[in-house]
Amino acid sequence: MGEQIQRPGGEVSADDVVAGLRESFSSGKTRSYEWRAAQLKGIIRMINEKEENIMEALQADLSKPKLESFVHEISLAKSSCGLALKELKRWMKPEKVSSMLTAFPSSAEIVPEPLGVVLVISAWNYPFLLSIDPVIGAIAAGNAVVLKPSEISPSTSSFFSSVLPNYVDASCIKVVEGSVPVTTALLEQKFDKILYTGNAKIGRIVMAAAAKHLTPVVLELGGKCPLVVDSDVNLKAASKRIVVGKWGSNNGQACLAPDYIITTKSFAPKLVDALKVSIEKFYGENPLQSEDLSRVVNSNHFARVCRLLDDEKVSGKIIHGGTRDEKLLKIGPTLLLDVPHDSLIMQEEVFGPLLPIVTVDNMEECFDVINSKPKPLAAYLFSQNKKFEENFVRSVSAGGILINDTTMHFANPNLPFGGVGESGVGSYHGKFSFDAFSHKKAVLRRSFGGEVSARYPPYTPQKQKFLRALLNGDIVGLILAMFGWPRS
Ligand code: NAD
Repeated sequence: MGEQIQRPGGEVSADDVVAGLRESFSSGKTRSYEWRAAQLKGIIRMINEKEENIMEALQADLSKPKLESFVHEISLAKSSCGLALKELKRWMKPEKVSSMLTAFPSSAEIVPEPLGVVLVISAWNYPFLLSIDPVIGAIAAGNAVVLKPSEISPSTSSFFSSVLPNYVDASCIKVVEGSVPVTTALLEQKFDKILYTGNAKIGRIVMAAAAKHLTPVVLELGGKCPLVVDSDVNLKAASKRIVVGKWGSNNGQACLAPDYIITTKSFAPKLVDALKVSIEKFYGENPLQSEDLSRVVNSNHFARVCRLLDDEKVSGKIIHGGTRDEKLLKIGPTLLLDVPHDSLIMQEEVFGPLLPIVTVDNMEECFDVINSKPKPLAAYLFSQNKKFEENFVRSVSAGGILINDTTMHFANPNLPFGGVGESGVGSYHGKFSFDAFSHKKAVLRRSFGGEVSARYPPYTPQKQKFLRALLNGDIVGLILAMFGWPRS
């Protein structure tokens, strides 16, 4: 294993990091309620004491507006950790389940146990939350953890490596910084679970590496989240919610940001007007100067988004925005109308400030458009037509569905967060995080009473009759067999 990992105390190899964690896990200390609770309290203390530093890191990495940093990252992380702390005893408790007649007398329970040493690889767009939230789940479940933050958000990555060890047990929770070679070296190690957040291409690399060790994975991926707008809506509220869900989510660089809109040809002009009004109201006449919009993360992603905008298949389709400033890495909120299905912007995940609108003749056609693409992480519908809403929930396969709003379902810890098909494998959040990092051990307890001689050889016809009646629930047959009738 060649790749060296830089850590504050010098350079170590991925083997050393994982071996150290395995030793700590084997000592058994991560298993107790007290250890888990102490780590979660440490994380809450870190968030409280270092809020300003987190804000600064997010500002440096993404020019993220302070309100977005607080609401979407810091506050969500704190409430996720608070919930885990509050519910931990309940989550750790074995769950009693009923036993079966054939094992009478017995009792059965499901005992959650930690998996061991787990790896969290996170992404740059919500670099604080997407790193710490899976770590919270892993700790709550009693695991030792390696966190590998994204190198594309270096300030937040360095915040984690320099600050987190001061608040948690650094012999069991380690931060490893680095790019592809470091992640590759880590992925050569045997982990007991990997939670990866990022794009599906790398998701495949992670899954292939995990397969070598039969390591289970949670893959939190992305895709094109469709947003369908019916004419039967409160247009003012809908347009505000669409605009804030798109550009108020890290300027469109969010896995849950609406990727494209589908509406009818007849309703599109009204919708476009309402969206323009909300965009101008929120971000002013010169949005490139707005402090309420994150910048595009780096020049590579800036070039990627510009490529979608400059595709000749969408030339003449820009109906709002389209402004850019390469030096500031800013692109203004941009609407495109009637984009062709074979344009780049309709083929790739936008992950930026562009919002294309596809028009259809009638609402039912939205299903053909959505189903022609891989299953998305989220699908949004704005409609007051209950029948259509039911049809939408039934017909669209997506990680999650939200009616009459955008992105809000992410913040509900009672809902699992994860994709389906191309948008992900597995889920987390709230109790689902604890479950994602636990093995559900099946435990059946018996006493020495209740011996049934029929289960033991020699398998006489009489015993077969008895067992057949028992397993078929045939009470009469069972009684007859117990009295040895009919004789064979
Ligand atoms: P990224 O570039 O930060 O990559 C994610 C992680 O993968 C990083 O830690 C990086 O070091 C690692 N990585 C990169 N190349 C690798 C390789 N060859 N081998 C191993 N690891 C490697 O993030 P990104 O992929 O640009 O993130 C954007 C994508 O993530 C979008 O598709 C978005 O929809 C998705 N996303 C999903 C969620 C979710 O929770 N479902 C959240 C955020 C982003």
